[in-house]
Order: sequence, then structure tokens, then C-alpha cells
Amino acid sequence: MRVRFAPSPTGLLHVGNARTALFNWLLARGGGGTFVLRIEDTDVERSSRESEQGILEDLRWLGLDWDEGPDTGGPHGPYRQSERLALYRSYASELIEQGHAYYCFCPAEQLEADRRAALEAGRPPQYSGRCRDLPPSAVADRLALGHPAVVRFRVPQGRAVTFQDLVRGTVQFETEVIGDPVLVRSDGHPAYNFAVVVDDALMEITHVVRGEDHISNTPRQVLIYEALRFTPPIFAHLALVLGPDHTPLSKRHGATSVSEFRNRGYLPEALVNYLALLGWSPGGGDEVLPAQELARRFALEDVGHSAAVFDVEKLAWVNRHYLRAADPGRLADLALPHFVSAGFVQRDSAEARAYVASVVPLASGSVDRIEQVPSRLAFLFAFEPALAARRADVQEVLNEIGARDVIAALARELAASPRLDRDLFRAAAGRVKDATGRKGKHLFHPIRVALTGEAGGPELDLAVPAIDAGAELPPASGVAPISGCRERAARFAEWLDTNQ
Ligand code: GLU
Repeated sequence: MRVRFAPSPTGLLHVGNARTALFNWLLARGGGGTFVLRIEDTDVERSSRESEQGILEDLRWLGLDWDEGPDTGGPHGPYRQSERLALYRSYASELIEQGHAYYCFCPAEQLEADRRAALEAGRPPQYSGRCRDLPPSAVADRLALGHPAVVRFRVPQGRAVTFQDLVRGTVQFETEVIGDPVLVRSDGHPAYNFAVVVDDALMEITHVVRGEDHISNTPRQVLIYEALRFTPPIFAHLALVLGPDHTPLSKRHGATSVSEFRNRGYLPEALVNYLALLGWSPGGGDEVLPAQELARRFALEDVGHSAAVFDVEKLAWVNRHYLRAADPGRLADLALPHFVSAGFVQRDSAEARAYVASVVPLASGSVDRIEQVPSRLAFLFAFEPALAARRADVQEVLNEIGARDVIAALARELAASPRLDRDLFRAAAGRVKDATGRKGKHLFHPIRVALTGEAGGPELDLAVPAIDAGAELPPASGVAPISGCRERAARFAEWLDTNQ
């Protein structure tokens, strides 16, 4: 089995295309097949190397490795269409010689006028066939005079083209509805429908798995396969990925490119796992499975033919699962840039990294994505009693009977205390309890407010040592200044004294 992913490098990798790449990859990896990456860069104006690099990087990040491709090479290269122009030229000449293709000199304005006339008359806007039967001498003359020409495929009339689609079953098109497609543009570059056939055939692709948006191209391609006496591959057209309003997933729906999801702090294994569930189910009631297991279970026959809706909530659910399972050091590396953009880390240093690594686990179990970690830990860096007291939930805690006594006792208790680790904190809280007679939430809610400025957050057993470890860091560490528990309790008690 040989499959391929054939992106056009005209922008960022869209998650819908990433799903197509993934299904090809699952097929290859599950069945001992070969996964080929081919860059379809014949649209010179819209293609760029920068986009190609971005797509390769995104695929690597997702872990969708390829066996043959523009960077790795392979026995069927080159793998960039722009490097295969001579091949297309020679097959186009063959088709012209055999009468399967012809030169068309119709100027763009003429084609546009034909198109409009067809639409007005209620006919499908397809090529009129004006140049189909030009006498060979007229063609030779015009070419000799340098008239711009495209090469068109001569679609046989009065036929049905049928192909088997592994997702959609038997698909049939009448050739009457297919206008003669352009094979080679006037600038000498091949059109998609032509290059894709030459490449899939020469690269010995056995299964073409791609988006349903290409299904109307497939009959044209089948006819070109026939004319070139190539055997067509097996086709499978995947239903499109839609947004919540059931229109194709686009910018209007929010993030659509793999790099955006990456920048927001989704883990690649989560995105891969979620994309696999768009139109397919691993069976057995399982949803969260590693890629190798997904590949082992994957079968094109089980892919559904109705469109799949991209559900960000479900992606977040899958991501939470992988965040909980991820190695803390890895999460810290991923979180660091977000700490930098939040201003919590001002300079990358070994100490800053170590501190971030020590605090990330406080938040990574309760966020949807890594991007949200710094705001969950904002209490470490921003502590201001006046601001805290403006929050309704904090105010509610402060209004509880005895809350102020707890905070005053805490401030006294910590006044001469060293920095707190978990045990020292527990001992100090025990003494505040003894001094005030408050316990349970009547003890810990005010303590939390006084030490974090928030009414909720990570367990105090973890948050308090994190605050005091941060307070010990020298300015040269690059971590934004953190005030310690001793200072916090004192300031909060003082603020309550003077303000309420
Ligand atoms: N370059 C085409 C695209 O990105 C590939 C279509 C195909 O797989 O045949 O849509």
C-alpha cells in the first residue's frame, strides 16, 4: 500500500487538511504501507517555500512522519511538482499526439463571456469546445505565431465515468457535465488534475485519500488515467470538517490552522487523537488512544460519510487527558513562552526554567490548554490586597465571621517565620487554628485569600511553598518579583485594619 498527502503550499496547514494527512498516515502505519509527502506547488503565484516549510514543521510536530518526501527523497522523486515539469510536458505531448488533448487558444475574456452566457441560459458553465476541432494547420500556425495556448483534455462524449469510493460507495458522473479540463496552462505549468494523475501513477500510489471537495475532480482524473493507460488507484473521499454552524470550518469559527492550535497550547498527541475522531471511531467505546493504537484499528471502510463538526470542547477534553499524562519537564518547556508573554518570566535562565517547572503542575491538571497556565498562576506574581478585596468572591470570604481574626493571627504567626514549605505551612495553620478557634473552610478560606489574593486556586499545600520558593529567587533569575507569604499576610492584615 502506498498513500500520499499532497498539500499545496499556499498558506498554513488547516486542521481539515491535517485530518486528511492523518488518515493517510494511519492507513500506512496500520498496514505496513508507505506514506508519501508530495508538494503541489504548480500555482507559482500562490505557492511559497515558507508555506512549505511551515507545513512540514506542522506535520513533524503532529508526529506524522513520511517515508518519501521533498526533504527525505525516495525512489519516486522529485517530490515537489515544480521539479517535475519535464515529466508533465512529456505526458502532455503524448496525449496531444494521440488525440486525447488539444491546444486551446481561447482568450480569457472569451471564456468569461461564454461562462456568463451559459449561466444566463441555465446551462452548466463548462468549456464550449470552440478549439476542440481546429484544423491541425491552424493550430500549427497559431503556435508558430506565438499565440498563448493551454492544453485541454478531450473528454469523451456520451459516457458515464464510474469509480468505487471506499467512503462513498459507487460514484458516477456523466461526461456531458464535464467540460474539457485544462491540463497545461499557457505558462507551461500543469493544472492540478493533470499533475496529480501523472504523479499518483508514477509514484505508484495505491490509495488516494483526500477531502470530498475534490470529488468532482475525480472523474476527470479517471479519464486522464484511462487516456494515459495507467491503472487508477482506489479512491476515498473524506467528508469535510465543518464548524458548529455546519459550514466548512473557516477563520470565522476561530482557530483553523495547526500552528494556531500549537501556539494555544494544545498537545500534538491530543490534536492527532481528536482529529482521528472526526468521521471515524476506534470502536470498543474507546476515544482516547495513542496514535499507534489508532493506526492499528484504522480502516477506511469504517470512515463515515457524513460531515464531521469540529468541537472545540471535545478537543479540550482530549487535551486535558494528555496534559494530565504529560511529563512535567515537557509541560514546563511548553509553558515557558506563555510565562514570558504574560511578563511573569522576564529572562530565560536555568533558574527561571526550574521555577516554572516546579509550579506548572499546580495548574496543568485544571486547564484546557497550556496557554491558560500562567493566568491560573497569576496569584504568584500579582498580589495586591486592595485589588483582591474588590472581587466579589474574596469579599464574601472576608465577610465571614472570624475571617479577619484568622488573617490577623496568620500575620502574627508568620511575622518571624522562615519561608514556608508544606510542613511549616501546616504547622503555622495549626497554630492559627488554635489561636482563633476557626477550622476547616473558616480557617482555610481566609488564609487562602490573605496569601493568594484569590478565593480559589490550587491546593494551599502546593501554592504556599510555590509562593515562598518564588520569594527566594534573586532578581537575576529572570522571574518577575514574587512577594512571600510573610509579607503577604502582613500587608493583607494591615490593609484590613486601615480600610475596613
Ligand atoms: N493539492 C491538493 C490540495 O491541497 C491535493 C488534492 C489531492 O489530494 O489530490 O487540495
